[in-house]
Parts: sequence; structure tokens; C-alpha cells
Amino acid sequence: MKKVSVLAAASLLLFFGCSKSVSEKENIEEEVEQSLAEGRRCASYEVLQAKLKEDPSLQKRMDEIEAFTARYAAQNINGKLEADGVTMTIPVYVNVLYRTSAENISDAQIASQIAVLNEDFAGSNSDVNLTNTYQTVKAGTTNIKFVLAGVTRKQTTVTSWSTNDAMKKSSQGGIDPTNPTAALNMWSCNLGSYLGYAQFPGGSSATDGVVVLYSAFGSRAKEPSGTYINTYDLGRTATHEVGHWLNLRHIWGDRRCGDDFVADTPGHDGANYGCPAANTTSKCSGRPIEMTMNYMDYTDDRCMYMFTAGQETRMRATFATNGPRAGLRP
Ligand SMILES: [Zn+2]
Repeated sequence: MKKVSVLAAASLLLFFGCSKSVSEKENIEEEVEQSLAEGRRCASYEVLQAKLKEDPSLQKRMDEIEAFTARYAAQNINGKLEADGVTMTIPVYVNVLYRTSAENISDAQIASQIAVLNEDFAGSNSDVNLTNTYQTVKAGTTNIKFVLAGVTRKQTTVTSWSTNDAMKKSSQGGIDPTNPTAALNMWSCNLGSYLGYAQFPGGSSATDGVVVLYSAFGSRAKEPSGTYINTYDLGRTATHEVGHWLNLRHIWGDRRCGDDFVADTPGHDGANYGCPAANTTSKCSGRPIEMTMNYMDYTDDRCMYMFTAGQETRMRATFATNGPRAGLRP
């Protein structure tokens, strides 16, 4: 089921500043819950559009990465086989910005998130529905693993961070990334009305990484004592955002029947929300059944459970010789 109205409503939502009264804070928390109750919200595409406006050279870099990725997918470049045979073990630095004790997520909650990433990127997550239409194109293991390398915590007076990357800059009250060209940095914070956002390959290393709302960070199933937001409590926000960080686009291509640059995903009319019924169909040309269970859709955590082989190729292309994330190669 589509909820196009959510997108319209999203455009009306406000971003919140840093100094709010107590009553305003309560209102903010209510508004955040209400806005996310309408459906998943990821800011990656909007942040990318803003960065493309700020930096005219970014489009050129991303075009070059796109051409490189296409050559890689066509098995036509040096480094492909080498990269495919290599298990990519990615060091992960988690940066926790907190104002309340709930926002200061525990080491166990962080560990649960790393565990979810490892399961989802290995295709070993137990919730895969083997009867879905698209099992034949489901990725096996992507050979991408995640290892916690360090946790940095910082208390803040900021009530709600916006998507302007301030949480990634110590000069703006945030935490600078650690070794961003050879590691994944994740920031956990109160992100207002968004669940998360990621920086695509090609952007500045100073802001590279993914941001996840503290209450969507980790898995209630693995660490029940954490603080979680309903329906986004199984760690799939990070799976989705790390997908962007490895160059995956939303499965609907951010427009009606848009292109996600992956051959084995079907066209989508738009984002799907909640837990769609099986065999939800689109009006796009080609295969009509939407892949609502793909991590790059907007469905609830418990209803998304797969990447495709094409998405796997696209992610692994980032690690190839001369790929945009070659710095992570062992
Ligand atoms: Zn997204």
C-alpha cells in the first residue's frame, strides 16, 4: 500500500533548533512519534540534493562512480574478481551524542546493532520469508562484515539534531569521525523526525558515515532493555543506511517508477510503508510485483529482510581497486 500523502506531509514538518523550553521539548517528542508513526523517514536523498547544490563538483564525482559501477557490474574492470573473493571486514566507530540517559544508548544496544548488520549483510537473518516472489534474486552473503572498533560518547544540550551534519563536527558540538576513509562511522543521536540518513560514496570524508535515531539504533529482539521506537526496533534503519553508504538507492529510485541502478529489482510506484500485503503491485512497466521486503524500501523493520544479488554487486563495486571505498580493502 502506498501512502503518497506521507510525502506531502513530510514536506510540512519542521526541523527543530537547539534551545527549546521544557514544554517545547515535550511537543517535539510527540511530533517525532506522530511523524514516524505515519511511516519510515530517511533523509539520505534530500541531504544528497542539498550537497549537490552546495558542491557542483560532487555530481561529476558521483557520475564517475556510477560509470565505474556499471563497468564493474559488467565484469569488465580490473579488480572485480579480486574484490569479489575478498571478505570485507569494516571497522565501525559508533559516536553517541546524548542529552538524556535514554539517548546514551548502552554498549549492549550498540552490540545488537553490529549483530544485525552482520546477519543482514550475510543473508543469515532468521526472518527471511522463503516463499516470496523474489527469493531467486536474493543476495547470498555479501561477504561484508562489521566489527566494532570503538565507541565515543559525548553529552550535549542539543534537543534535536537536524540533517545538516552538525553531529559530525566537534566545532558544532558533535563528534568528528574517526579514520573515515578506512572505517564506517555511525552517529546515534536524537534526529528529530527522521530515522536516519547516510552519505553516499563520493562525498567529503569529513562527513562520511551514517546517522541513526538513537531509538532506532540496535535491536529490541537482541537487547530488550534498550530504548526503542515502535516498528523501527530491529536494527533495520542502520541496514538501510549502510546500504546507502555502499551506494544503494531507494528501491523506487526516489521518483515514480524511478531507477535504482540495479537490474534485478522491480519498478516501484513509490515507497511502501508499514507491512504491505504479499504481491503488492505497481503500475510501472516490467515486473509488476513490488519488492516491499527489500531493505531499501520504507517498510517496517519486521517486514524487510533482503538485498538482491544486483544490490550486492553494486555494494561490492565500492570496494574494487579504484572504487570509492577502496580504502576499506584489507
Ligand atoms: Zn533511505
